[in-house]
Amino acid sequence: MDINSLSHKELTEVITSGAYDRELAAEADRVRRKYYGTDVYLRGLIEICNVCKNNCLYCGIRRDNAGLDRYRLTPENILACCEQGYGLGLRTFVLQGGEDPYYTDEMICGIVSEIKSHWPDCAVTLSLGEKERESYAAYRDAGADRYLLRHETANDEHYARLHPAEMSPIHRKNCLFTLKELGYQVGSGFMVGSPWQTAENLAEDLEFLRELKPDMIGIGPFVPHKDTPFRDFAGGTLELTLRMVSILRLMFPTALIPSTTALGTIHPQGREMGLKAGANVVMPNLSPVGVRKLYELYDNKICTGEEAAECLVCLRRRIKSAGYEAVVSRGDVYGYSSSSGNF
Ligand code: SAH
Repeated sequence: MDINSLSHKELTEVITSGAYDRELAAEADRVRRKYYGTDVYLRGLIEICNVCKNNCLYCGIRRDNAGLDRYRLTPENILACCEQGYGLGLRTFVLQGGEDPYYTDEMICGIVSEIKSHWPDCAVTLSLGEKERESYAAYRDAGADRYLLRHETANDEHYARLHPAEMSPIHRKNCLFTLKELGYQVGSGFMVGSPWQTAENLAEDLEFLRELKPDMIGIGPFVPHKDTPFRDFAGGTLELTLRMVSILRLMFPTALIPSTTALGTIHPQGREMGLKAGANVVMPNLSPVGVRKLYELYDNKICTGEEAAECLVCLRRRIKSAGYEAVVSRGDVYGYSSSSGNF
């Protein structure tokens, strides 16, 4: 089966033709080993704030969640997290947060350039939501290497059911193409099992990714959050998420695909299974322990209690037990050339 020549209808059939599939996972694992061997890249995740001007219906840090204590890390806090992460061997830092206008472009650029000047051998990834081209360009000039922005769902009607009317699926998709033009390594992705999602929607997600050709693809199950309008919906399943990871690996042999925290939240061995199904990245949490619980995008999020060092020991052990090797390096996408800065 050449997955990349499948039509919309055929893709939908591959998605629905079973739950978790050992053979599909084994095939995905063969493909990942061909390009990446047993390497699993580590990314230190720093959740810089839980203040958000958006009101996504699924998300625990949405604007209207009045019961949540809000926090913002200072540039000094963020640099301290990087320093700790660097000491633990991490060479990629991911700065993720709500869309918070408190952090001006100038501040973000300042933080990025400080990180790059202290630790020039590290990659900086931003995941700060939708911005205008000028902002993305400024962050890039300041040294940002990568940007993560999940498209969430490629279907406009479905998007409109997951987001308030003021949010535009076209704007979000355009951001991704802009980021590519600016020379970022770009990551996109979607939730599996979000309310009203159909197999056809998932096929559309794959088709959108085919068009975007991202370097990184992050997916995880939708997990309901008790203080959101979606509190009573069922979450996405382990089986379908793993199946989608395998399909993504077969469609995008060289992509960087994380085995996500959400996957680890719905099953104790979720992340190990994600790696075996074709994922090749994990993201240990470097956020200060005091704020971890406040960055609760969904209920029961794991890794909110341990210090960074413990988190890393635990993840390294999990990677090994799944039959892979945690690798200390920037972990760029296969074929990336740092001299060109782009490819
Ligand atoms: N503000 C940034 C970061 C968002 S949080 C941005 O807009 O990109 C990172 C990801 O968490 C989101 O893209 C979304 O896919 C995921 N997420 C949010 N709420 C979730 C939930 N209830 N269940 C599972 N994943 C969720």
